[in-house]
Amino acid sequence: PEFQYDVIVIGGGAAGLFCAAQAGQRGLRAIVLEHSNKVGKKILMSGGGRCNFTNTGASPANYIGANKHFHKSALARYTPWHFIELVSQHGIAYHEKELGQLFCDESSKLIVAMLLSECEKGGVPIRTHCAVNDVTHDSNGFTVRTSQGDFRAPQLVCATGGLSIPSMGASGFGYQLATQFGHALQPRRAGLVPLTLSGLPLQQFEGLAGVALPVEARANNVSFTNAMLITHRGVSGPSILQISNYWQPGDALTLDLLPGQDAQALLQTAREQQLNAELRTVLSQWLPARLAVRLCELHFGQKPMRQLQHADYTRIANHLHAYPLIASGTEGYRTAEVTLGGVDTDSVSSQTMMSNHIEGLYFIGEVLDVTGWLGGYNFQWAWASAHAAASALSPA
Ligand code: FAD
Repeated sequence: PEFQYDVIVIGGGAAGLFCAAQAGQRGLRAIVLEHSNKVGKKILMSGGGRCNFTNTGASPANYIGANKHFHKSALARYTPWHFIELVSQHGIAYHEKELGQLFCDESSKLIVAMLLSECEKGGVPIRTHCAVNDVTHDSNGFTVRTSQGDFRAPQLVCATGGLSIPSMGASGFGYQLATQFGHALQPRRAGLVPLTLSGLPLQQFEGLAGVALPVEARANNVSFTNAMLITHRGVSGPSILQISNYWQPGDALTLDLLPGQDAQALLQTAREQQLNAELRTVLSQWLPARLAVRLCELHFGQKPMRQLQHADYTRIANHLHAYPLIASGTEGYRTAEVTLGGVDTDSVSSQTMMSNHIEGLYFIGEVLDVTGWLGGYNFQWAWASAHAAASALSPA
């Protein structure tokens, strides 16, 4: 069979569904082609099942990409408040967790249901189990050959997402399509991902799995203060996921284990008030006890406070405020929330998301070289880039 549309959207994730819905509501004949068994799988698993669907503080500074300006225009034209308005219209209750992060009170299923109802409002059919075999382009537009027949349209939106969580339908198809049409790719790697330790650093943390504490993680002149969790393989938690976007193997990574505190002053006061206490007992007042004990075994010794000299405090304080963590790598796409890098934005219009090479070809969402921080920023990019493309698509 053969089907004719105004626009074909490949990928039924956050960006694809939102773009198709708006195109449909603008009167275009739009269709979504999704290769897996259902749409919106990442939305469903996001935010621990409650979908952190936006961040009220989202600004261009919360995004990473080779071109620092590319994402500004779309984000400015479709703000978190636009999406919040839509969520409210659909009667979805939400709450702010921390730092502007908005989550559904009930379930991320409500966000998928909202997107599907918006698609229905726009008369947009959705084909699941639709494997795309190849895409060709000629003067009449695009032909998308799939397991369910050939689809033709003068406009094609690639919303196939990144490489993270292959078991959820992630594929490299969007990158392949971009390359086919002459687009360059920025190097891709796993982002918002736990870091792994190996060798001595892993041994040093042995038995500490489950220990959690607030830290400031620092790498390449960027820092994030939030919780860190020690795991069996390395370290995780929001501070680590955030810094993973800015760190690569070989880069220095330091942890402030007492962020916002003055370890030297704390130790000095403890020396005056707890003369006979062991250092590890004193440190356990500020750090998880298992970690305090381990730090003393590894680095600080087992002395009581009265035997410590001024130089010892300085050394201990410096170590606590800049603990060098030698990570060996990341857990990779298996657990990463996002893919850094992707379709190079230099050949894509920041106004419309259209390719500079091929009239009518659009890239939106995570497939592009735009990656947000942890905390609702990535969905906000999906919505904003989808909106930019949907506004630019033209009826037949
Ligand atoms: P996706 O949502 O990944 O959608 C791409 C779609 O394309 C998928 O349905 C896929 O099956 C389909 N597809 C791929 N290849 C093909 C093909 N060849 N043919 C047809 N279809 C294809 N971000 C936040 O902002 N807040 C959060 O709380 C949050 N939590 C997350 C939790 C987890 C565990 C993960 C993995 C990610 C999380 N993210 C979160 C990131 C967010 O999910 C993504 O940034 C966002 O989904 C990207 O939207 P997208 O539409 O570009 O891609």
